[in-house]
Amino acid sequence: MNNFTQLLLAWWDDNKRNLPWKDTHDAYTIWLSEIILQQTRVEQGLPYFERLTTAFPTVTHLANAPEDQLMHLWEGLGYYSRARNLHATAKHIAFTLDGVFPNTYETIMQLKGIGPYTAAAIASFAFGLPHAVVDGNVFRVLARYFNINTPIDSTEGKKQFTELANRLLPANQAANYNQALMDFGSLQCKPAKPLCHTCPLQPYCAAYKHQTVDLLPIKAKKMARKTRFFNYLVINIAQNTPTTPNICIHKRTDSDIWQNLYEFPMIETTDTLLDTNQLINQKQWQNWFADAVPIVTNVSKIYEQLLTHQHIKACFWQINLPENTILPNNWQTIHPTEVTNYAFPKVLNTYAHDYWIAPQKQQSLF
Ligand code: SF4
Repeated sequence: MNNFTQLLLAWWDDNKRNLPWKDTHDAYTIWLSEIILQQTRVEQGLPYFERLTTAFPTVTHLANAPEDQLMHLWEGLGYYSRARNLHATAKHIAFTLDGVFPNTYETIMQLKGIGPYTAAAIASFAFGLPHAVVDGNVFRVLARYFNINTPIDSTEGKKQFTELANRLLPANQAANYNQALMDFGSLQCKPAKPLCHTCPLQPYCAAYKHQTVDLLPIKAKKMARKTRFFNYLVINIAQNTPTTPNICIHKRTDSDIWQNLYEFPMIETTDTLLDTNQLINQKQWQNWFADAVPIVTNVSKIYEQLLTHQHIKACFWQINLPENTILPNNWQTIHPTEVTNYAFPKVLNTYAHDYWIAPQKQQSLF
């Protein structure tokens, strides 16, 4: 076994993290944990893992669950396409593959929502197959230990790091090696302030020797974030009868973000948020309500949510409309206290919390 792998496995013997998905070879449980942990810290993902495995102990339970239940349990974790793919894949395994999880790297790769990283994780952790995982932790550790300055987001870099990770992998200890490398990246060779002074790999670490630890790994592209302006209409259509449902919501069908989550009707604008005159002249308003003039009772501050590639700026308009207003077919009405029963994007939950769930600092209009 090469020096790097020996040192890594020795470090792991003393430092392995006890997490509920590590003591199992059940492919379903491992798959669930890996999908939850994509783009998510372990601490954040842990309660979701417990919630989902309790609600859906087997792939068949997940396959038979209504999508709304899954989306509600997933709420707050973000990247909702993961949940939709999870559901589609569970149905495929339960109903097409008779509940049997694929057991080769190639067949795992064919499942929806699974890329090379997740396929390697399932193949090695569930079936002991010799496939190296290559995630952000692995890029960082290898780039530093071997002092590699090929950009990790380039085609060449991905190929180089994947080949290296697989060369270092001991065929009979694939699962331990993969887990050790990820734990080492999270706990010791961290992105900021790595613990070089207590690192057993330090005498052999090329980046430490050449003082390039803080420069590695290299990324070629800086991520550009697009700013979007969302005007949410919190439409109250029965303001004189507060016990009846009165806030309009609908399921978001746009495929860009938050598909299948609920939201208030929304008008997106290109550069700035609207004023009242601009609002009623918007094509969407005209389509929904023709010439109806809204009574605007409150306009919120700007709420913001950062996504990987987008910066969402949202403003919430509380609007009264007459009780006999005809609503579009796919809208429904709920009482404000029912918002917690639905899966909303985080920015809407924050607003609902400020105005309805803990409204002491806000002027509640309901
Ligand atoms: S010495 Fe520092 S940079 Fe090198 S492997 Fe250890 S923690 Fe990472």
